[in-house]
Amino acid sequence: MSRIETKCVQGGYTPQNGEPRQIPIIQSTTFKYATSEDMGKLFDLEASGYFYSRLQNPTCDSVAAKICALEGGTAAMLLSSGQAASFFSVFNIAGVGDHVVSSSALYGGTYNLFAVTMKRMGIEFTFVDPDCTEEELNAAFKPNTKAVFGETIANPALTVLDIEKFANAAHAHGVPLIIDNTFATPINCRPFEHGADIVTHSTTKYMDGHGVAVGGCIVDSGKFDWTAHADKFPGLCTPDESYHGITYVEKFGLGGAFITKATAQLMRDFGSTQSPQSAFYLNLGLESLHVRMERHCLNGQKVAEFLSKHEKVAWVTYPGLKTDKYYALAQKYLPNGTCGVVSFGVKGGRAAAEKVMKALKLIAIETHVADARSCCLHPANATHRQMNEQELLAAGISGDLIRLSCGLENYQDLIDDLNQALDTL
Ligand SMILES: *Cc1c(COP(=O)(O)O)cnc(C)c1O
Repeated sequence: MSRIETKCVQGGYTPQNGEPRQIPIIQSTTFKYATSEDMGKLFDLEASGYFYSRLQNPTCDSVAAKICALEGGTAAMLLSSGQAASFFSVFNIAGVGDHVVSSSALYGGTYNLFAVTMKRMGIEFTFVDPDCTEEELNAAFKPNTKAVFGETIANPALTVLDIEKFANAAHAHGVPLIIDNTFATPINCRPFEHGADIVTHSTTKYMDGHGVAVGGCIVDSGKFDWTAHADKFPGLCTPDESYHGITYVEKFGLGGAFITKATAQLMRDFGSTQSPQSAFYLNLGLESLHVRMERHCLNGQKVAEFLSKHEKVAWVTYPGLKTDKYYALAQKYLPNGTCGVVSFGVKGGRAAAEKVMKALKLIAIETHVADARSCCLHPANATHRQMNEQELLAAGISGDLIRLSCGLENYQDLIDDLNQALDTL
């Protein structure tokens, strides 16, 4: 199954003779075994199989396998949310006393997770401008740095990350690059092809695409050689006493170690599990992801072009616009399209932004993006309201920024709605 469209539709699950055509929802917390010995082997990770749905569930595993195939990875896991995916992806290799380099252009929830909550857990983050020079990027590393983190297309700043620049710096310092690929989706960018090592997703966004299920995913490329930097990654390269002395890289290889450890330790202890029902909804979304992304991008492009010509619009950010600061990077990393999210500001600043949003009829105000239905948000008042002015600026967010997520409607209707709302100014 070589082409990505076919993987969207049929990847991850291959029914045998007479089995259900659609992925079955295995709505069971537990699984039955004949002997305690059988069960013991599962607990010791000596045999593979299901025993408790907090750790693994067949429905979730099938859907994770589909996303793994879409990204071109070796192993993947579903989680309860994108936040859980971001947390696990870093905490799996960094703990108290460690340090992480991150792009400053981040989703607000991720910024808070890193700068506040994980800081309280003893992990220090250095935030770098995604457009920094190689020298500036290299200067951010410390002897205790364990990972580099960034977003392919940052939410909501819409900066496009130079993935190769970040991958080269990470690898020069013996650590992996973790990429949050939520906005691009593997349809428009596969970060592993540009040197990234781990990919995370908020599947709540385009992958689900219908606003029905919160979820997350982590995919491992299997390409990062933990053993070459064993002193930095003892959790993967030395025996885990909570699993009878298993060493993850030895037992599961470079392709399986990261996800097995995240499942066996972090999922066991934190329980950020996705429900089989949610995984089923996610799979329905994935079946049309390739078709929907094309339309989201078309609508985003048309709306961005309309806004950029409107006299009451102060500025528009959309990496698909030729005049955009990130157009060249988008052409390199996202040649088939970027996403359906457009950021813009109206003349008259914050108050004018609020007035325009209030006047919209078709486009709803929601804390959401990447839905089939168009929606918009004022980040300075919502997702990023914990940040001070300086932090907002570093994240690429101005007070007048409206984040507009173009859905799957006819783009002319979206343009008409925006036009009548802008007329109220
Ligand atoms: C929404 C989002 C998240 C968080 O995902 P949840 O599913 O809401 O927990 C992380 N990263 C990006 C880029 C997002 O857009």
